[in-house]
Amino acid sequence: MFDKAAFAGHESVHHFFDAKTGLRAIIAVHSTARGPSAGGARMWNYANSDEQLTDALRLSEGMSYKNAMADLPLGGGKAVIWGNSKTDKTPDLFRALGRAIESLKGRYWSAEDVGVSPSDMAYAAEETKYVAGLSNGKAASGDPSPVTAKGVFLGIKACAQRAFGTENLNGRHVAVQGVGHVGGFVCEHLAKSGARLTITDVNPDTLASVAKATGATVVDPDTIYDVAADVLSPNALGAIVNPKTLDRLKVKVIAGGANNQLSTPDMGDKLRERGVLYAPDYVINGGGIINVAAEISGAYDPAWVDGKVQKLVQTLGEVLDQAKREGRATNRVADDLARARIAAAAR
Ligand code: NAD
Repeated sequence: MFDKAAFAGHESVHHFFDAKTGLRAIIAVHSTARGPSAGGARMWNYANSDEQLTDALRLSEGMSYKNAMADLPLGGGKAVIWGNSKTDKTPDLFRALGRAIESLKGRYWSAEDVGVSPSDMAYAAEETKYVAGLSNGKAASGDPSPVTAKGVFLGIKACAQRAFGTENLNGRHVAVQGVGHVGGFVCEHLAKSGARLTITDVNPDTLASVAKATGATVVDPDTIYDVAADVLSPNALGAIVNPKTLDRLKVKVIAGGANNQLSTPDMGDKLRERGVLYAPDYVINGGGIINVAAEISGAYDPAWVDGKVQKLVQTLGEVLDQAKREGRATNRVADDLARARIAAAAR
């Protein structure tokens, strides 16, 4: 483990096995320098445990960066369950995960992530108090998507200010990939501000309802990369900026809520060379974790959440401006800033 490229100085990595429920989980704690580590629990059918460990390490390091950029008193961690989320889920599996989380005595706070729902995590919460993002309870913050979407919308405006000289989106053409929880709310905000929308989704029902509500033009999922628009807002999948899509993109700004939008960090350099302004994903989509952090604090306060989202957008602007000044890719500048914030807290 210590030799892996993804190890990246993790404070601790915990492996859990529960014979009764078949739980095979890894909880990686990258950093607690800023506060208890926090990040969702993911369930994925990995090919082997080495792949599971690599994913846990990468994701928990990513959470340290995201939490630092959102200026939260939280470090980075992640729980990863090896299994098929369609066939292997049971209440007892998540209770076993809850006991694993509890054994870390608050060094790691969990929530839902890919393959895991708030109702799954409610079983984990029967065994531990270190679970947030729940639908019920004293400080339950519920679905974080509207807050994520608000941050993304304000982030698009911050990008527009820099790319077009005005944050006014009236008449701007925005292509939106994925109109689910986050993308749907982003479209609502954009339509209200007068933007012209071209949208896509693999779910025809969701697509039709968002198109009806916003007057958007609909295109096939693969065509979205070819749309000549001012902005592309990815709100579905990761790795959408990759060697295959790069030359097809005809936009000036990429700003959306999806995680891990660049297939590799050098895609950020390529976007810069092509004059495309990229909003680093883990900065612009930090609204969701801000919402979860409000729940972790024990007393959910919408005004605090709003203030943190405003500050997040300001931080995004600082990243974009510094990248321009230094002639560097925005994702590289964001990584450096996040590392500096974590190192400062560690000192
Ligand atoms: P979601 O599942 O509600 O929405 C994703 C949408 O993308 C779905 O409607 C799905 O049909 C669509 N989609 C899937 N594959 C597609 C494809 N190939 N082309 C076009 N559309 C496709 O999920 P969400 O909660 O809205 O999250 C969207 C993204 O934002 C994810 O990458 C997620 O990790 C990230 N994110 C979400 C939050 C949050 O608060 N929900 C916070 C931070 C980051």
